[in-house]
Amino acid sequence: MTRACLFCGATGSAILSDEHIVPQWLLRHFNLPEDDQMFQGVANSDTGELAAAPRVHSSFRFVEGRVCAACNSGWMSRLEVAARPVLTALIDRGREISSLSSSESAVISKWAVKTAYLVTYAGPMRSPVQLDHVRLLCGDSSVPHSGVGVFAMQADYTQPSGYIQTGQWPQLAPPGVAIDRETPGDAYKIGLQFRHLYLLVAFWPNPSALLYPKKDLHIPLLPGPSRPDVNHTLDLIMGSGPIDRLAAFTNSLGVVRLDTAV
Ligand SMILES: [Zn+2]
Repeated sequence: MTRACLFCGATGSAILSDEHIVPQWLLRHFNLPEDDQMFQGVANSDTGELAAAPRVHSSFRFVEGRVCAACNSGWMSRLEVAARPVLTALIDRGREISSLSSSESAVISKWAVKTAYLVTYAGPMRSPVQLDHVRLLCGDSSVPHSGVGVFAMQADYTQPSGYIQTGQWPQLAPPGVAIDRETPGDAYKIGLQFRHLYLLVAFWPNPSALLYPKKDLHIPLLPGPSRPDVNHTLDLIMGSGPIDRLAAFTNSLGVVRLDTAV
């Protein structure tokens, strides 16, 4: 594998090493001990519709070596500066998600997508999202792929932080329309949790389907291919483990066939 910057493609000596996926200010904010252990478990899977068992982790101390100095000290640094005060307030629940302006939602969305993507490259699951989606984020004015949705909620928590990557997608279609049970290989869902703040980055490749959030649970920061009037009220299936709330938040985002449904 070539050592190229994941975001801009630069190669050579400009590539940094040991870049923290989650910035130092945020790790300090959590006051995690130096010997913080990475938690790995299998999420509750009562619905039995898993394409693959989701795996959940709760430490962001891992690092990624494929970010160049120009990206790191340029647009990524400016993104951190813009996101930090808003993120901190949301994490500590000093602010509610509903209070965010559209520009604040855009900043938090981009930060969530950037962090989620790096987690998929550097985390122990080794299931990276497609590189062309990562490259789209490069630069101050760039935005995520149009098929990506970002959703948030605030809730109680057990672990100070966690993440999950899952292939579970509840799928719905009107009567008489076949449901494609296979989850496309390039679909992805990444859930991130920092104390009270839960973030979900989701991509479904089929343009004839909409992301299908659960009403009053998945608050859109970046709607992607979803509509505010198309959401479900299915029961939330949630175990009692330390990161099951994150797993339920992530798993319960569905897709609905658009071509005949609406
Ligand atoms: Zn770069």
